[in-house]
Amino acid sequence: MIKHDAPEDAQRISALYWEVKDDGTWARTVASIGVTSDIGGVATGHSHAVLLNCPCANCSEPIDVANRSWANRVGGKYLDAEAPSYLCRDCSAIHEREEAERQQHAAEQRRVERERERRKAERLKRLVAEAIEGEAGKTEPPGPLPADDPLALALYVALISYATRNPGRALPGLTSIGPLGWTGDAEQDRGLLLALYYAGLLALAPESPPQAFTLSQESDEISFVSTEVSWRVTGSLTAAQERARKVTYVLQTRPGPQGAAARAAFAALMDRMEAADVAGYLNGLLTKQYGYPEVPEARREELADVIRKGFEHGYTPGQMICFAWRAADSAAAWKERNPRMGPPEAASASVTSLNGKIDKAIELRHAIPEYEAPRWHKAPLALNSFRRLHSDIRRVHDSGVIGACTRCDVNGLKETVHPETGAGALWRCTHPIEFPAQEQQETEESRTDEASDPAEA
Ligand SMILES: [Zn+2]
Ligand SMILES: [Zn+2]
Repeated sequence: MIKHDAPEDAQRISALYWEVKDDGTWARTVASIGVTSDIGGVATGHSHAVLLNCPCANCSEPIDVANRSWANRVGGKYLDAEAPSYLCRDCSAIHEREEAERQQHAAEQRRVERERERRKAERLKRLVAEAIEGEAGKTEPPGPLPADDPLALALYVALISYATRNPGRALPGLTSIGPLGWTGDAEQDRGLLLALYYAGLLALAPESPPQAFTLSQESDEISFVSTEVSWRVTGSLTAAQERARKVTYVLQTRPGPQGAAARAAFAALMDRMEAADVAGYLNGLLTKQYGYPEVPEARREELADVIRKGFEHGYTPGQMICFAWRAADSAAAWKERNPRMGPPEAASASVTSLNGKIDKAIELRHAIPEYEAPRWHKAPLALNSFRRLHSDIRRVHDSGVIGACTRCDVNGLKETVHPETGAGALWRCTHPIEFPAQEQQETEESRTDEASDPAEA
């Protein structure tokens, strides 16, 4: 199409410029049209072409093109391509307008979304501050100790021991402690910590990180993520230590089936933790010291059984660490003698070796030394406190200790007057250590320490 008001010369050039042969290719090259420096400029300034064979992808009208190169892009070499992705001028304009509107709308939505996020973050910050302030108001546990949850009570004793060793510091959140947590089972820890929290013995620490709180969508309420928050003990440390002594006393002396069940539950947890600790040490040796993989999945249960057998035969945790060290050492030596054996076989062989060494020691009554686990070995955080608690509980029920105690009968019970009702009752004795007469002074002091013992009052 040539503009009707174009100069005659421009009309002539345009006609030559756009002429096509029968096959649809250009009739002549641009250079051959004339000597004028800008033939293309003159032609496209006064004309355009309509590609009758190339319909618009949207409305099927033929597409306008402004110059030859654009014509070839749309219509191909023979100007006949059915270009499915090209639009006519009108449709392009509509398409561009729609695209611009769409982008504007999207930008607006992003702005609204950012504003919503900002408000939400502000609201969360304000609510977290309020919640922490509310937690700070918790000074003393409101109710009695959760006596029906012996493992939570035991964990409380371990937490107070930790707080005593780290005064002024928050109790770390589960995520920051690592996979072994307090008891070697992070899911169990979570339940026990929540039980202590709802009993008012723990509160959320102000050190809890922001990601430990989430905002509910609908209402102005936040909840905390129990694995992320850090904790603090409610009340003064002195009062908490006193409470931990009372917990120990309850676990030691609680009578009846509930008391027995509580002690059995704690002893079972202790067994699991000790076994997991030895298995963890053996795996640590294999991976850290020898560069082998851990004991293969298929033999883990067998490993747990072997370790349990060792404990059942009376070997101490230190002796079990020694067995594990020797087992890994033998497995490594066996691998050296058998070059075809790889690291996974050696890791697996350590279980066989451990079993053999324990059996042999039982049979031949070998004296086994106690090894201390090296620094790299990470035990569950509560393990040491639990060992003390376990030994405190067992001592009270130990027949040898009962036999040597002058304050109680053969069953470890003694006549006690109830401090409130004044009624006489038989109560379990904690067998306080008697000092020889010449150390009377110390005996008096030790009696003062026992003041927490309600049965002594
Ligand atoms: Zn169109
Ligand atoms: Zn006694």
